[in-house]
Amino acid sequence: MKSPAYLWTPPATPSLPVLGNTARFPVNRIFCVGRNYHAHAIEMGRPVDKASMKPFYFTKSPTALVESGATVPYPTGTANYHYEMELVVAVGAPGFRVNEADAEMLIYGYAAGLDMTRRDLQLVARDQGRPWDLGKDFEKSAVCSAILPIGDLGVLKSGVINLQVNGETKQSADLAQLIWNIPELLADLSQFYHLEPGDIIYTGTPEGVGPVSSGDSISGHIDRVGDVLLTIGQPE
Ligand code: MN
Repeated sequence: MKSPAYLWTPPATPSLPVLGNTARFPVNRIFCVGRNYHAHAIEMGRPVDKASMKPFYFTKSPTALVESGATVPYPTGTANYHYEMELVVAVGAPGFRVNEADAEMLIYGYAAGLDMTRRDLQLVARDQGRPWDLGKDFEKSAVCSAILPIGDLGVLKSGVINLQVNGETKQSADLAQLIWNIPELLADLSQFYHLEPGDIIYTGTPEGVGPVSSGDSISGHIDRVGDVLLTIGQPE
């Protein structure tokens, strides 16, 4: 009898639908950019001076991925569960130490994402100099729409990004307000990692983050990219 390769069946590869393609986008790593809109950095009490600072990143496990349209339980361990509306850049080609001028070649496409956050746990960790994992990298915390292939969109330099909770606008900004733009992020991140097809990058949220409760419906929109929807269910 042939020996099995694994003790049990490995979990399925996390993936996202691709607009206009029956094949799905297999998600490799999830990178997230912190504090990439000035007004959000200020509302978090940590203003950014681009001249003297570098972008910073945290990661979410690929298993944290949830497709747009889902209902997720209000997560455990928090009393301050926040939305963060973000442009997601999907990487489709390998890149290491890429120049900003070449960064577009890495982009497979774009998506609309929610970096859901246990804000109370994140801020405790931040203020104690501890990792953000409990606040950021938890189950069903990386919500993402279908991926729109880049086509002739090129590098997105502007476009409305907004978010509503139960139809009320909570975030409204423009991609032109990104502190570090898409080529700058890809060039910088690729100094630290060998970027691979399947990596996705949440590029940061504008101002107006806030809490949601069970029963709330979140709807986010990015011009020319798409929409992301999430419903908050009861706690488990
Ligand atoms: Mn974020």
